[in-house]
Amino acid sequence: MKFRLCLALLSALVLVTLRAEDPKTTNKEPKKMDKVIKTDDDWRKKLTPEQYAVTRHAATESPFGAAYEAFNAQGEGTYYCVCCGAELFTSKEKFHSGCGWPSFYDASKAKNVAEHVDDSHGMRRVETVCKRCDAHLGHVFEGEGYKTPTDRRFCINAAALLFVPKGGAAPKLEPLGSEKVEAAKAAVKKAAGE
Ligand SMILES: [Zn+2]
Repeated sequence: MKFRLCLALLSALVLVTLRAEDPKTTNKEPKKMDKVIKTDDDWRKKLTPEQYAVTRHAATESPFGAAYEAFNAQGEGTYYCVCCGAELFTSKEKFHSGCGWPSFYDASKAKNVAEHVDDSHGMRRVETVCKRCDAHLGHVFEGEGYKTPTDRRFCINAAALLFVPKGGAAPKLEPLGSEKVEAAKAAVKKAAGE
């Protein structure tokens, strides 16, 4: 009888394990461990006050500001997340919309820009965030009639972007939560002399 019970428990355990590994049942949203995890204070130390307000607290920079003027003057290159270094946009998708904020008609092929419905300020908009670190980037609007391949306008705060001209080195990526945990585990093992 005991043996039977053990067997039943064992097969249940195997079933649960198999389920967990089945790709069809895994959630498409990245797990928390697959994100850059920092405290509010860590972000504040890393960023300028404007970058911090925009990316960590969803503030909107003033249109036609200094960072926007700099953006307008930039040539070919890649735009990275100012918080974690993920590639977000390239100059290929950049276009002039006249709205006063950096505009792109699409995210870069790296696909690090996530979109979420945002009902704040009495409007229904689609917020764009960095997939790796949840930095607020801006919003995306569509069907406005811009003569671009997508008729979408990623209206992005210049403060959220780090520009690297073509041929320049990409910024260092902030490690993901899981990488941090692995590094901490390795450090513990090393300290223990393993
Ligand atoms: Zn990021």
